[in-house]
This record gives sequence, C-alpha cells and structure tokens, in this order.
Amino acid sequence: MKIYGDYHTHTYFSDGHGSIEENLAAARERGLDAVAISDHGFNNPARFSLTREKADKQREILDVEREKYPDLKVYHAIEADIISLDGDIDMRSDDYAGFDYVLAGFHRFARPVSGKDFRKLYLPAYFSAVIKPSRDVVARNTRAFCEMIRRFPVAILAHINDMVITDVREVAKCAADYGTYLEINMKHIKIMTRALDGILATDVGLIANTDAHIPGKVGDFSALAGLVSACPEIAGRIANAAPGEINFRKFR
Ligand SMILES: [Zn+2]
Ligand SMILES: [Zn+2]
Repeated sequence: MKIYGDYHTHTYFSDGHGSIEENLAAARERGLDAVAISDHGFNNPARFSLTREKADKQREILDVEREKYPDLKVYHAIEADIISLDGDIDMRSDDYAGFDYVLAGFHRFARPVSGKDFRKLYLPAYFSAVIKPSRDVVARNTRAFCEMIRRFPVAILAHINDMVITDVREVAKCAADYGTYLEINMKHIKIMTRALDGILATDVGLIANTDAHIPGKVGDFSALAGLVSACPEIAGRIANAAPGEINFRKFR
C-alpha cells in the first residue's frame, strides 16, 4: 500500500539521530510527496526536546532546504505533550504561529502541570503495561484527551493508548468532531490493532506515520501491511494513502 506523506519524524533537535537534511533526503529517496519534521515538545528534558531557540534554528534550516526540494512538501510541526488531567499541552499561545501543525500525545518524561497530574495521569501510565488501569483511570484519561482535543488545535493525535489507556471510541469520536486525525504509528502497530474496533465505530480520519527517529526509517511503512490485511476497510480511511494535501486542523 502506497503512503504519500510521512507527517511525524524526529531529528537530533530532540531525540532523533539524524539531521533535518537527512530526513528530507530520505523522504525523497522513498518517493514521498510530503514529509514533516516534528520534534518533541517544550516540556521534555531540554537535551531531548525542542526549545524555542532550537525551533527557530530549524526554521532557518528548513527555509534553505525547501529550496532544494521544490516538489517535496516540507512541514515544520511539533510533537507536543499532554501534561494535565485537564488536557493542557506544552504550547504557549504564541508558539502556534511558528508551526504548520501540532501533533500531541503522552510522553512520560514531559514535565506535568502539577503533582496531582503526575499522580493521576503519569503514575498509572508508568504501570499500565503491568497493572490494568481501573475503569476510573480510563475514564479520567479519556476525559483528559477529549479536553485536549476540544481546547487546543491538535491536528494529529499521536500513538493513542501508548501508556495512557483511554476509551478509544470516545476519543476517536471527539477527534472526529474537531477534525483531529488519529495516528497509525508504525512503532505502535499492535496497540492500533487492538484499537481498531473503537476507531471504525467513528468517522475519525486516520494518518499513517513512521515516527522515525533515524533517517533510514523515514517513509518506511512496511509495518502497515499486516494491519491492512487484517482489516482491509482501514485502508480507505487513511488520509495519506491518497495523493494530495492533507487538510490539517487550523489554529484559532
Ligand atoms: Zn511520541
Ligand atoms: Zn514521535
């Protein structure tokens, strides 16, 4: 199955191992029409995340690089973090204008808003692989993600149910209402397989992304084949399985 754009890749500006230049070259090599540089958000430890200064440096590099690839659509995005039970993310209101769109998801090292958010959102997430989250925890997580989607212009919800377990159907419904895409993350295909029923019960849009942390993985969608053969109807729901520009949720 051909995927035309990779809307989630990392570089050494956060925890990736390649440069912007290498990711773009890899995208070209794979024959993609579009690629995004989307490093980790501001509340992660600075060594592994964007700072506002690093984001400015990326913009300078991207301005030069875009000239070299007139037929490759190059996006500058950010992978923000959900950092509270109220759905807060680590973006200031004046940060949005600098990016083409925002992905958001849970990342365990991102600094939470408060101790309460750490205890109620982060702690159950740390143990979710070994201790099945209670119904209360799932309800609270679901509320947090829906609030995030309602309050902020999140274009793509990254790797749903990675560590923070939600009611996928509820979150997908909320995402559909607000025009937020749900990501099929190549590094979390198993989670996606389990989430399929919930997703297919809604009309949420889907985007397949590699979440590449090395240039060699940019545009490598080989992991998608298994999911699509197990559930062929998913194919028609994947926005970047068709050519053309994606209509990302706009900032207010
Ligand atoms: Zn992530
Ligand atoms: Zn990522």
